[in-house]
Amino acid sequence: MDNFIFHNPTKLIFGKDQLEALKKEVPAYGKKVLLVYGGGSIKRTGLYDKVISVLNEIGTEVTELAGVEPNPRLSTVHRGVELCKSKGIDLVLAVGGGSVLDCSKAIAVGAKYDGDMWDFAVHKAAPKDALPLGTVLTMAATGSEMNGNSVITNEDTKEKLGWGSKLAYPVFSILDPVNTYSLPKDQTVYGMVDIMSHVFEHYFHKTTNTPLQDGLCEAILKTVIETAPKLIQNLESYEHRETILLSGTMALNGVVNMGLAGDWATHNIEHAVSAVYDIPHGGGLAILFPNWMKYNMHHDIPRFKRLAVNVFNVDPTGKSDEVIALEGIDALRSFWNSIGAPSRLADYEIDDSHLEVMADKAVKFGPFGNFAVLDKQDVTEIYRMSL
Ligand code: NAP
Ligand code: FE
Repeated sequence: MDNFIFHNPTKLIFGKDQLEALKKEVPAYGKKVLLVYGGGSIKRTGLYDKVISVLNEIGTEVTELAGVEPNPRLSTVHRGVELCKSKGIDLVLAVGGGSVLDCSKAIAVGAKYDGDMWDFAVHKAAPKDALPLGTVLTMAATGSEMNGNSVITNEDTKEKLGWGSKLAYPVFSILDPVNTYSLPKDQTVYGMVDIMSHVFEHYFHKTTNTPLQDGLCEAILKTVIETAPKLIQNLESYEHRETILLSGTMALNGVVNMGLAGDWATHNIEHAVSAVYDIPHGGGLAILFPNWMKYNMHHDIPRFKRLAVNVFNVDPTGKSDEVIALEGIDALRSFWNSIGAPSRLADYEIDDSHLEVMADKAVKFGPFGNFAVLDKQDVTEIYRMSL
């Protein structure tokens, strides 16, 4: 293992009817709250009314920022930062999916910075202070509820960049599986693809002696694979929503990757696609990840074999390691197809006209990936395999 420090400060409040916890958590940070939400799902489900009613009960002064886009935009971050500064906000409260949470993180750090929050995304500056952020999550996917990461799209430059800070961890996150019942089937599938992809980003590493970490990764993958078909048949199953919700948090809250640096190239490759075409993150990952695997499996065939056998139950008898490894990748593709995930860029009507532009965006900060270092030519080839 590599040396590591694990410090995750987020208080996770998980389960049914936990919204009441706002009564205790919010006043600990002050009276003035910026309530951030998306395109309206929380109004349709009634969650908005419930949150407002709890906040009113404790005498909170609420300012609202509505309409955060999936693939949240820098201009929306700027609007939120302005509101925080002009209203003297004490706490940012994000109610929604990963996009609302990521946008709120950017607002929380931007509110305590004199320059443009985008400076953090392009590594021109690092956050030194932030407003506290609380979240009520409505979608299992990003793990944003318990990590310090955020992904923001600059619509002017058509760039989608991830950034992170220890100051961007939520101070509390409320996760009630019931709040995810209304998530439609396609988004539920994208979320599960994202969760599995986070695990793959950890699983493909070059660190030695990581039996526990590898086993934890495999446990999450197997849990999602077992649960996904049942959940898409019954979107209002408490049991299955609960399982997937916790899987999403555990996939990216720093626990399973203690002591190892994963790869993270595929997320970068996907961000370049959704920067140009504004497609759902999980949809892009479903298309790209199996191709990243095929392109890079020669770096460590035993690891791909282990994935095939331990997670996808590939029978190794009488087969070469390479054949076993390939059967595992094919099994992943079949599994994602079976739950309705896309498999080709053509599914989003993306052709080869902007491959170069996307590859340039992916290598903005130079070659990337830890398990396999990729340059522009590698990225272009993976896009080509994905057409
Ligand atoms: P999302 O973009 O937050 O939400 C997708 C859609 O689902 C939205 O249209 C949203 O509608 C809807 N939705 C959410 N909850 C719902 C519910 N309970 N019922 C009905 N509709 C609901 O999806 P996400 O996958 O969570 O976030 C994606 C973003 O996170 C991408 O930008 C991705 O790059 C980023 N990401 C971040 C991390 C991280 O660690 N921070 C990791 C991976 C990816 P409304 O807008 O109407 O609410
Ligand atoms: Fe992701």
